[in-house]
Amino acid sequence: MSSTRNTPSSGGKDTASNKAGLGGDELFLDTTLRPSSWDEYVGQKTIKENLRVLLRAAAERKHPPEHILFYGPPGLGKTTLAHLIAKETASQLKATSGPAIEKVGDLASILTNLSPGDMLFIDEIHRLNKAIEEVLYPAMESGSLDIIIGKGPSARTIQLELPPFTLIAATTRIALLSSPLRSRFSGGTFRLEFYTDAEIQRIIHRSAKLLGLEIDEKSSEKIAKRSRFTPRTANFLLKRVRDLAQVEKAPVSVEIVDRALAMLGIDELGLLQSDRDLLSTLIDKFGGGPVGLNTLAASLAEEEATIEEVHEPYLLQLGLIERTPRGRKVTEKAYGHMKVEPSKRGKLL
Ligand code: ADP
Repeated sequence: MSSTRNTPSSGGKDTASNKAGLGGDELFLDTTLRPSSWDEYVGQKTIKENLRVLLRAAAERKHPPEHILFYGPPGLGKTTLAHLIAKETASQLKATSGPAIEKVGDLASILTNLSPGDMLFIDEIHRLNKAIEEVLYPAMESGSLDIIIGKGPSARTIQLELPPFTLIAATTRIALLSSPLRSRFSGGTFRLEFYTDAEIQRIIHRSAKLLGLEIDEKSSEKIAKRSRFTPRTANFLLKRVRDLAQVEKAPVSVEIVDRALAMLGIDELGLLQSDRDLLSTLIDKFGGGPVGLNTLAASLAEEEATIEEVHEPYLLQLGLIERTPRGRKVTEKAYGHMKVEPSKRGKLL
C-alpha cells in the first residue's frame, strides 16, 4: 500500500473542512477522481514549477527532498500534491494528521517506523500541540529524536537517529503555526491559490470522463461557476448532478444542473445557506459590521474555525465581506446579492 493512515483516529478531516457540507468526507474516501500524474493536476503552475526543481535537484543529490509545507483553504489539492510528490520520488507516503497525534509517544512511534526516503504527510499540522512540536523540531532539523525517559532528577534524554525522510505538511490555518515550526520547512512553504473557472471546468470534464458521464460545455460552465473555485466542491457538485440525471434517466443538461444545485440550496454565486446566514446575520444583527469573529460565531452558533476556514475565504474572494482591524463587515456587493434596499443598509465604515 502506498498510503497508510497509521493511527486509529487519523481520519483527520473531522473539522471545519467538512462542515461546509460539501462532500469532504465522500471525496476523502473516494480517491478515484484524485489526479495521479502532474499532467492531470490542473493549475497551481508556480507550485508545480517550484516542486519540479526541488524534486529534481534532490534526486540528483540522491537525497530526500527537504521538508515542504502547503497551506490554503480545504479542497484545493494539498493532499493530492503530497501523493504526487511521493509518486514522483517513488517513495512511500505515510499519512496522518495533527489531531491524530495526541501524545509525544504517537509521534515517536510514527517517526521510528519510517524507512529511509519515506514521505511523512501530516495534514492539519496546526493542530499539533506544543510538546509534540518540540519533538518534531530536532527530527526535522537533524534527523534525531530526543526522548526523555523517567521523571524528576532521574530523568534522562536518549537520542535516536532517524532514517532520512521528508515531512510534507498541510494546513488551512498558517497563522496558527509557530514561527519556529514554520522556519523548519526548508524545502519551501507554498500557498495554494483558488482556481479559475476555466481550470475548474477542465477538472469537471476530466472527472466526468472518469465517472463515465457525458457533459456539455454549458452544463460544466454552470457547475464551475458555483464550485467556490475549489476542485473538491466541483467534484462533489458534479456527482450530485450525475445522481439526479441517473434517477431522472435523463442526460446531464443545464436544466438538470439547475435543479440539482437548487436542491442543494446553492445559489448563483455558489453560496450555501450557511454563507447566506452569515451575511444576513452581519446585515440584520450588526448593521453590516464591523463585528468581531467571536461575536459573529456565537451569534451563528458556529465554530470560529469553520467561519475562518470554510466561509470567509470564499466570501472574501468574492468581495462580499471585508476583514478590518475592528472585525468583519459586509460590502456593497453583499447588500446587492442579499437584495437589501439601499435605505435599509447599515452605515458602511
Ligand atoms: P486538500 O488536501 O487541499 O483539502 P485534496 O488534495 O484532498 O485537497 O483535493 C480534493 C479533491 O479535489 C481531490 O481528491 C481531487 O479529486 C480534486 N483536486 C484537487 N486539486 C486538483 C487539481 N489541481 N486538479 C484536479 N483535481 C484536483
